[in-house]
Amino acid sequence: MVKKICCIGAGYVGGPAMAVMALKCPSIEVAVVDVSRPRIDAWNSDRLPVHEPGLDAVVRACRGRNLSFSSDVDRHVADADIVFVSVNTPTKSRGLGAGLAADLAYWESAARMVAAASRSATTTGKSKIIVEKSSVPVRTAEAMERILLAHGGGEGDDAAFHVVSNPEFFSEGTAMRDLLCPDRVLIGGRDRDAVRALVDVYAHWVPEDKIVTTTSLCSAELSKLAANAFLAQRVTSANAISALCEAVGADVSDVSRAVGMDHRVGGGVGGAFLNAGVGFGGPGFHRDVLRLAYACDCNGLPEAAEYWRQVVAMNEYQKSRFVRRVVSSMFGTVAGKKVAVLGFAFKKGVADTRDSPAIDVCRGLVGDRAHVSVYDPAVSEKQILRDTAAKVCVARDAYEAAEGAHGLCVLTEWDEFRTLDYQRIFDGMQRPAFVFDGRNVVDVGKLREIGFVVYSVGKPLDPWLKGLPAVA
Ligand code: NAD
Repeated sequence: MVKKICCIGAGYVGGPAMAVMALKCPSIEVAVVDVSRPRIDAWNSDRLPVHEPGLDAVVRACRGRNLSFSSDVDRHVADADIVFVSVNTPTKSRGLGAGLAADLAYWESAARMVAAASRSATTTGKSKIIVEKSSVPVRTAEAMERILLAHGGGEGDDAAFHVVSNPEFFSEGTAMRDLLCPDRVLIGGRDRDAVRALVDVYAHWVPEDKIVTTTSLCSAELSKLAANAFLAQRVTSANAISALCEAVGADVSDVSRAVGMDHRVGGGVGGAFLNAGVGFGGPGFHRDVLRLAYACDCNGLPEAAEYWRQVVAMNEYQKSRFVRRVVSSMFGTVAGKKVAVLGFAFKKGVADTRDSPAIDVCRGLVGDRAHVSVYDPAVSEKQILRDTAAKVCVARDAYEAAEGAHGLCVLTEWDEFRTLDYQRIFDGMQRPAFVFDGRNVVDVGKLREIGFVVYSVGKPLDPWLKGLPAVA
């Protein structure tokens, strides 16, 4: 019977995931621990370090009841029946595999902490379940087993530890919804009792048919990488079709809808992740596609590696194709012209700009000497300036960004961009006034009626744009 759970890493995953676990399992004590005292202090304050809709209410309901945040890592690890390891695994910035491989330094230090803090478990005769929650390279769980073994963790039936993989699939911006009603919970592990114990925890709120188990640790580990890579590949397929749509006069929205309605493709009408746009972004997609390619390379599979690298290459192409379209439409030069950029986050609903396509588009436009004015409803001015090396201006709203501009680019699908007063924006812009919609959010017909020249990714080209000299 599980009585105490501890999670190492009070970050974006550990905090929300454990808050939901505490909410749904009132009989279990859940402690979230971290080496960062400021992080722990923030979790114990009214200003949580992670912003997700619904998170505050859940933390408020459980904190002080069966949910605690602490920097006393050793004590909580020693007491716990189940230890989740949810530390950061950033991409290596130097050394072997730089830019591709995961940096496992935090993960290894956590593994060693677990081993040191739990040595007494061998003598108590009670096995601890160690749950790999971080996104890690395939076979990392086996490395964890070896570290524990090397610290006297015992083997087979006598093992003081059983390692289980339970990757996290939630999306930023909808983390609480995804944690409360997950599409699936994946648990991989060789020890049946350990897997069952974790299934029983999730079964407090997740229907059992959504809890998938496997005896293969590495299948579970690989599933996380593969899930992100498949999503990135789907978006990229739609983007590749969008280029052809523009060339032949087809509409990528029609094509995606028709493709998505095929149950073999999945997703149903308006199939998720089949929407074409200026390119995918965010902390996971680009990173996990490259990690998958790297894993293929490390295992002597260069063709498979190349396939996945092409997904990243196509994404780069989509962003540069967008910039070329802006420049060629504006008569081959944006030098000295004001261009408004609406949206800087990598997707709506978040303030996260990691790998956001807007960064590359801004760099491209600035590189061609445009004066770029950015507005985003969630991203701070400081962040925008940091991402663009302070080469752009930041506006307080869409109207200020567009005032006096020659062109306007929509780069994040924020709902408010659908309902702007485009007549007012048009009145304040130079002529001809261009709109470049990288997210298919504007009503193209309506904007053309107002007088805009409109480009929307994957849509039939505005007659005005046909026949202009191309730029390479
Ligand atoms: P994060 O950087 O927000 O938090 C990680 C925390 O771990 C930090 O607070 C850090 O201080 C702590 N930590 C590091 N080493 C430690 C140690 N030895 N002992 C105690 N604490 C330690 O990271 P995150 O976003 O929560 O991600 C955690 C893992 O989950 C990563 O592998 C990530 O790839 C994966 N993941 C993230 C998301 C997401 O949307 N953020 C989604 C799914 C999976």
